[in-house]
Amino acid sequence: MRRAVFLDRDGVINAMVYHTEFGLVDSPANPEEFRLLPNVSEAIRSINQLGFLAIVISNQPGIAKGKFSPALLEAMTEKMLIELRQEQANIDAVYYCFHHPEGVVAEYRAICECRKPKPGMLFKAAQEWDISLPESYFIGDGITDVQAGYAAGVSTLLVYPSSRCYLCDELTRQKVQPDHIVKNLLDGVHLIRQLEQQKQGQVIL
Ligand SMILES: [Mg+2]
Ligand SMILES: [Zn+2]
Repeated sequence: MRRAVFLDRDGVINAMVYHTEFGLVDSPANPEEFRLLPNVSEAIRSINQLGFLAIVISNQPGIAKGKFSPALLEAMTEKMLIELRQEQANIDAVYYCFHHPEGVVAEYRAICECRKPKPGMLFKAAQEWDISLPESYFIGDGITDVQAGYAAGVSTLLVYPSSRCYLCDELTRQKVQPDHIVKNLLDGVHLIRQLEQQKQGQVIL
């Protein structure tokens, strides 16, 4: 069986978009708004080198909410994959949930099994790629990433940039904690490398 590092997309791979006119932070809605965060290509290249699959697991309710079309999302995905590939960083697969229970686009207005915090996308990826979930990791910056990872039985790394983790208070209320807290994706991958080296050391000893 294979192992994977599952990656949330918005806030982990690419920057969120700040809409000053509404005072809102949102996911990018078109390729122009889609910007890779610093050191992401290095992080994903390291995942490749460690022998893990790199698989994106992302809620994109903007589709159900009519904020952008599946074609625009596809264009953003292409931009992400191409820019990373130019840096020898390879994403093996991308799983999106298009749904939202209160969406305005009837086709995608649904209570689905894929929307995080549910683990549906992780289970689907595990089946399609023959992945051992207990030997895999999920790196995300949201409560629902930790919840989905926990529900699927993967190790969870929460990306949280400041030392005081306010999200963790909410996670405590939800009775789930990340296995690790890291400052960004690259720190998360460095930690995974250390954890893997420790595991190998234990086997040799
Ligand atoms: Mg996120
Ligand atoms: Zn869904």
